[in-house]
Amino acid sequence: MHKHVVVILPHPDDESFGCAGTVAKFRKEGVPVTYLCGTLGEMGRNMGSPFFANRETLPEIRKQELINACNVLDMELVMLGLRDKTIEFESRDEIAEQIKQYLDKIEPTLVITHYPEYAVHPDHDAMGAAAIEAVKRINPEKRPEVWAQAITNDRYDVLGVPDVLQDVKDVFDIKLKAIECHASQFGGMLKKFKENAATTNDEEIYERFYREEFYRWKF
Ligand SMILES: [Zn+2]
Repeated sequence: MHKHVVVILPHPDDESFGCAGTVAKFRKEGVPVTYLCGTLGEMGRNMGSPFFANRETLPEIRKQELINACNVLDMELVMLGLRDKTIEFESRDEIAEQIKQYLDKIEPTLVITHYPEYAVHPDHDAMGAAAIEAVKRINPEKRPEVWAQAITNDRYDVLGVPDVLQDVKDVFDIKLKAIECHASQFGGMLKKFKENAATTNDEEIYERFYREEFYRWKF
């Protein structure tokens, strides 16, 4: 059983859409989870559907959505204050050091992050790489294991079968509630999902929402 889990992702909503089920399962077992969230997603293009945000109000709205989602998931939140859409241009060394300071304090046994180069968005790739670099700097005896989430369509061809498959159907209500907190980003998508849920075949919903998968990072 894990002692403490740390999730390291760049955007508000990455946690809810990507690993909320896994977080909910850990919380059910009583394992503390801390989210180091890189940015406030302030450069996002979605302003709600119908619009309720604008360029000025988006950071504050997304921050509140993030806080709400973390409350739903009962997970501690740390905002790292990086700038959205620019993580790839920041010094990886500095971000890794910033992350490592938290890891040294928290001493997690597991870190969840994106799989660099296979996470679709440059911020995802850069944050994953910095998180893995931070873990690498921890003494091997104290080093937590890392579960890396790949998203690209070619992931199975290149990386093979994921090492960790989490069936999150039993906590799906919590995951959906967390996703719903991010109304500025997923309002339109969720409506579509709910409309299609009756007609979509089960396998598709399963793949997309009921299963979370990770690759164990090899150092
Ligand atoms: Zn993201």
